[in-house]
Amino acid sequence: MNKILQPRRQFIFECLAGGLTALLSLYSQPLWARQKVMVRSIRQSSKGDKNNVIFDLSASVHHKIFTLHNPERVVIDLNDARLSQGFDSPRFDHSLLRNIRYAKRERSDLRVVLDLARAVSPKSFLLPPAKGKGHRLLVELHPQRSKKREPVITANSEKKQLRDVVIAIDAGHGGKDPGAIGRRYKTKEKNVVLAIARRLEALVKREKGIRAVMIREGDVFLPLRTRIARARQHKADLFISIHADAARNRRARGSSVYVLSKNGATSEAARVLAENENRVDLKDDVLFGKEDQLAKVIVDLMLNATIEASIDLADGMLKSLKKTGKIHRNRVEQAGFVVLKAHDMPSVLVETAFLSNTQDERRLRSKVHQGNLAKALLGGIKHYLKGYAPPGTLLASMNRTTHVIRSGETLSAIAQRYDVEINTIRHYNALKSDRIRAGQMLQIPISAGG
Ligand SMILES: [Zn+2]
Repeated sequence: MNKILQPRRQFIFECLAGGLTALLSLYSQPLWARQKVMVRSIRQSSKGDKNNVIFDLSASVHHKIFTLHNPERVVIDLNDARLSQGFDSPRFDHSLLRNIRYAKRERSDLRVVLDLARAVSPKSFLLPPAKGKGHRLLVELHPQRSKKREPVITANSEKKQLRDVVIAIDAGHGGKDPGAIGRRYKTKEKNVVLAIARRLEALVKREKGIRAVMIREGDVFLPLRTRIARARQHKADLFISIHADAARNRRARGSSVYVLSKNGATSEAARVLAENENRVDLKDDVLFGKEDQLAKVIVDLMLNATIEASIDLADGMLKSLKKTGKIHRNRVEQAGFVVLKAHDMPSVLVETAFLSNTQDERRLRSKVHQGNLAKALLGGIKHYLKGYAPPGTLLASMNRTTHVIRSGETLSAIAQRYDVEINTIRHYNALKSDRIRAGQMLQIPISAGG
């Protein structure tokens, strides 16, 4: 038990040390969206060899600034910020500043990239409201003295640091715990779910930018909390628990996808199911000791955000499972599964089908259907990662950028500039016609970090 408690305790301290800001910037949700910092305008001011770029803001902002080389760029990441409505791309003197680009990062951060004609050493200062001016972020672009290089992140080293997204694949039950038993062929849940998990692992291996970690490799029993601890050891980003259902009603069939609910199950069926899946080794259902109220509050916030992310993941899976076969329930269900209590990892539990239904049992035994289920799960994972790849991953770097349309610009010119198909832009922005207007923002898929 100690072994299991340890990472949780450690996690609380990490939360406290990292502070609320770090947490909120990871999984920003509607609750905080209202407090987003607006970038009202960006201005350039140059005097002699002094070049400043000034951001006019609605409030103070947490930001990070760094440079990239070949081509020279200054990157400014603003936490929980966005361009305000009616934001217009600034006019600038092109001798140093070649272009300004905007990209949305994660769910809520804004990345501003200054494309430069030559290398600079940037310095940034937050200026409080004064003399009729609001909050500002001043970025000074100092000419770089030759030979002396700043300790900077280069484009290359940034690429090397990009990691894979780690998917923890958890085949339910195992060893002394067979899980549900098929009514007709006595199929054991632990065996079919391991087969599906292995298929999913093989599919993930073929994908770029994601990596699978098997929580159990063979027919072994693992306590539920050990499964989460194991996923944490591997620094998993997502946790997928694979199961097969059984119900008294032998006509019940199809797949369901569950995420953790904080305040109990959303349906009676979810409650009963959670009891069954948890029964084997459920001892304490209390999340944390009550001695540290602050830790609890922070973890609660984190938990809410993770539930939101989990629902997104589950939604994608449900949609692709729908294409594979029958769906038992049309919406994501929430229940208090211990195995989903990972707090910091978006986690889902998939009940692939009902072993209590003869047709479902037969399909679960089929290698072809096992493969199709694995494909559907991968589809859900990929769909999720398209929107929410974790920071620092290769997939996150293949994010989209936001382009603010200038007057006179055409869709085809924009497509050419970013080197993407015009159709891709139409698709990404759900454009019904090619008519665009100045100031309108377009999402454009890009393949590089800058
Ligand atoms: Zn199960």
